[in-house]
Amino acid sequence: MIRFEQVSKQFPNGTFAVKSLDFEIKKGEFFVMIGPSGSGKTTTLKMMNRLIELSKGWVWINGKKISDYDINELRWNIGYVLQQIALFPHMTIAENIAVVPELKNWSKEKIAARIDDLLNMVGLEPSVYRNRKPSELSGGQQQRVGVIRALAADPEIILMDEPFSALDPFSREKLQDDLLEIQRKLKKTIVFVTHDMHEALKLGDRICLMKDGEIVQVGSPHDLLTNPVNDFVREFVGNRKLSIHLEELITPITGELEFVSDTKTISLSTPVDEVLEHLASFEHISVEENGKAIGNISRQNAMKVMSRYLREGGQIHE
Ligand code: ADP
Repeated sequence: MIRFEQVSKQFPNGTFAVKSLDFEIKKGEFFVMIGPSGSGKTTTLKMMNRLIELSKGWVWINGKKISDYDINELRWNIGYVLQQIALFPHMTIAENIAVVPELKNWSKEKIAARIDDLLNMVGLEPSVYRNRKPSELSGGQQQRVGVIRALAADPEIILMDEPFSALDPFSREKLQDDLLEIQRKLKKTIVFVTHDMHEALKLGDRICLMKDGEIVQVGSPHDLLTNPVNDFVREFVGNRKLSIHLEELITPITGELEFVSDTKTISLSTPVDEVLEHLASFEHISVEENGKAIGNISRQNAMKVMSRYLREGGQIHE
């Protein structure tokens, strides 16, 4: 689907950002690029939609060199999500989502239906959010709109450059879950840049680890964990946080408050080991912040999160 062949990029000031990259991303794959700052991840991503021109080599998308595409055709068929949410502030949420479909001359009815579908997909009630301005949404909600806006015109490929790194851990986990769900449903090819190994292991079908403009290893999360090619990979994979964040255990409250009898109430700052102990006696725990209920932890969900950690080589106690 996307193929890099001996691709190098040297900036005018002489910096070699990437050196002779050879790799292929398959259709429908969730491909994560990770590596230390300055290792060439963003440059590689931006070469895919020609925001950065190559110095040497070729990039092929669907068997055609990207230099042979009409630039608009190429960009409209590749969604792009950045860390800084770049919603147009004076436009409503619906207008923001409609930008590329309008450029592609979709009918008004088709665009309106698409906007509602997408808002529903990420849990934003269309009748409430459609006509709001970006400033009337929280950071997490704006980023959610940024993600669905990239999906709006149904592109085959979505490029995401650290899309969740500015969010609080709670919103980040939720958006990661939403994105996985979207990927399962829509089977898009997603190229995702991050510096967070936990995020890479959670999201990636394959992970591409870069260093100094070169690929050190490409493989499934399991490959990187069990067969690191060198000490750099071993340390990079090993250095991630092994602890479980409380936010990951919580199912946020959306809509009506469900009444759960015989529950324990905790705050967001409660240590995870204490929470697990409570779960031995209570099926559900209610989580409060500033006196307001914000979510629930169920024994079932906690077991699910913990088993995922263990599968990824995590430890309950550090
Ligand atoms: P990453 O995304 O992994 O942090 P980048 O792709 O942004 O890395 O950068 C790779 C290298 O290229 C770095 O050394 C960076 O300083 C350099 N670089 C990036 N953009 C430019 C530019 N426009 N001009 C010169 N050097 C650049």
